[in-house]
Amino acid sequence: MARHRTSSSTGPSAIVELALRTAAPRTAVPEEVVAARVETPATARPATTPVAPAVVTLRGVHRVPAPPAALRGRVVAAAVAAGAFVAAGQALGPSDTSGTTTSADVALAAGSAPLGTGGAALAVPQVLTVAKAADPVATEQLAKGQRLGAERAAREAQARRPLYVVPAVGTFTSGFGARWGTQHLGIDIANSIGTPIVSVADGKVIESGPASGFGQWVRVQHDDGTITVYGHVDQLVAHAGDRVLAGQEIATIGNRGQSTGPHLHFEVWLHGTDKVDPQPWLAEHGIFVG
Ligand SMILES: [Zn+2]
Repeated sequence: MARHRTSSSTGPSAIVELALRTAAPRTAVPEEVVAARVETPATARPATTPVAPAVVTLRGVHRVPAPPAALRGRVVAAAVAAGAFVAAGQALGPSDTSGTTTSADVALAAGSAPLGTGGAALAVPQVLTVAKAADPVATEQLAKGQRLGAERAAREAQARRPLYVVPAVGTFTSGFGARWGTQHLGIDIANSIGTPIVSVADGKVIESGPASGFGQWVRVQHDDGTITVYGHVDQLVAHAGDRVLAGQEIATIGNRGQSTGPHLHFEVWLHGTDKVDPQPWLAEHGIFVG
């Protein structure tokens, strides 16, 4: 009540007058207020009590010193109706105070406001919406579950991944050792130009580019220090500094350098320097070629 912009009026029926001026023209007195006046039974009123007190009590139940028991329930009902009416008038705002408000509008607003407390009608759906949208516990549980699931999937994929693979699919055409009067320090796997060449194990690319005799090569250093060499390659897929996994494509088969046909020349440098026969080295890791 105190927030009402025209609350300077102090007459006994100020509240009702305000309500009437604010929300509707005088000719459209709401039925609730009229009923409160008319239905007050004359037999329940003391003879000395004028009709006016029924209106006075609309200011608030607590301000009435001691209303007759027979009147109490009706006074409360009237106060509630008037309170809802006034509150509805306040909630509708200045643009609706020009007398255009219909009694249907007032009844609608008053009915949706619990016990005539204006503004509460708007707050109720907002509270429900917020409670539905945010459940921090459930949201956190869901996020944690998704995180753990992704981590487990990654571990399982890692466990299934082979540690060693063949460097290229193709035809074994030459082994390690003496060949044509010289030492052949690797093995040859022939296939068409463009066939993928993969790293035989996890490691780091330490060189990817031109190489004397090989045209182009890629060298990968593995975690135990062994270096594998891939020569005559056509396209360089991985580059120096790349971390590669077993089976990851690093180049394609070519016919560059001193080569008699498209093939992969593959070498194994134990400890990074000792060129050993790749066949038994691969076999030691479960990979058989030739
Ligand atoms: Zn070779």
